[in-house]
Amino acid sequence: MYKTIEDEVLKKAAPAEFKAEFIQHEFERLHAFCLLIYLTSIVMWVVFDLIISYLGGQGFTWLSMLFIGLFAIFTIILMFTRKARHFNVLNLLFAFTITLGVRLLIEGLPEDLQPAWLILAATSILYSASMLPLGRGSFFGTQIIAWLMLNPFFDSDVAVFDLRGMLMVCYMGFFCALTLYVFLTLRKAKLYNFIMSRLLLDQAYLDTLTEIPNRRSFMTRADKQLHAVPREHDHYLAMIDIDNFKKVNDVYGHDIGDEVLKRIAANIKAVMSHFEYARLGGEEFAIYLAGVRREDVEALAGELCRVVREQPSRHPVTISIGLARVLEGDTLNQALVKADAALYESKHTGKDRYTFHQQA
Ligand code: GH3
Ligand code: MG
Ligand code: MG
Repeated sequence: MYKTIEDEVLKKAAPAEFKAEFIQHEFERLHAFCLLIYLTSIVMWVVFDLIISYLGGQGFTWLSMLFIGLFAIFTIILMFTRKARHFNVLNLLFAFTITLGVRLLIEGLPEDLQPAWLILAATSILYSASMLPLGRGSFFGTQIIAWLMLNPFFDSDVAVFDLRGMLMVCYMGFFCALTLYVFLTLRKAKLYNFIMSRLLLDQAYLDTLTEIPNRRSFMTRADKQLHAVPREHDHYLAMIDIDNFKKVNDVYGHDIGDEVLKRIAANIKAVMSHFEYARLGGEEFAIYLAGVRREDVEALAGELCRVVREQPSRHPVTISIGLARVLEGDTLNQALVKADAALYESKHTGKDRYTFHQQA
């Protein structure tokens, strides 16, 4: 089954909104890793700066302090960066600054050592960049910056067509292609994995008929709200059951029954859009209303009954609702039992109404 769905996904181009969501998701997941790469790059630069300053007899100057200050600012900005697109811009600024810093360091080396160290630095930077959660633009930009700023042929006595030059050109070409290939392939594989998991999760947590969340989704999300949302106001649980639904199936057929189910789901979605709602199974639905007052719940339940009752349709139906206040310390299952008892009351006092569960 996985293979079948995977083949389907791979056949299609990834939708743009998925791509944007994926890039943001990757950045959030790898935020700490990005910081680590920045810090490691800075530490490496400082170590080389110290070696060149003292063993190379260059002296530790204000310029070193300036670069360390700039790197620190970029790292602090990264700590507070939350959007992938901001990180893409920050990365270009960082790449420019660090390559400039590296270039100035290497200028302090003896001439014959410079080309090799420039290539080493450029390839290290590109290797790191290929691992970062960057957009294409930012990665291609980093490639251009790295090869322009750390170009070993600029201001050097190496000619492209002599032995050293040719070796360097080949190695640069190879590394450029390798990092591009790794970046693009990894990105594509991760993107398709992301799409696959999104698709499978949607299928696992959505009701196929009505396309609203299913019981599994409801139990997870309502439970989270039950424990997480601060209790400035009360929490309520509503259970909904369509009245005389067997008759709809018997008289009009199962397909019309399904249409009615979809219609009720759409009504619930419209009236209860701010809350967690789901089809629990069959013709039963549930809503978790967090942070509401009793008057709000009454108004919403009354509104939902009215919308369903008054919806123009060749197959009109009504619904009954059971409401229970979720007490602190209640589990979701306890609340469901109470709401179900209240629903039973609604059914036995004439249907097409809502009833609150009476605490014993
Ligand atoms: P009440 O007013 O007391 O709720 O009466 P009711 O006829 O609605 O009784 P009940 O709630 O027990 O009816 C459940 C019916 O829902 C039985 C089943 O045929 C129907 N049903 C359950 N799932 C589906 C479904 O996916 N599609 C259709 N068309 N019918 C379904
Ligand atoms: Mg039922
Ligand atoms: Mg029913």
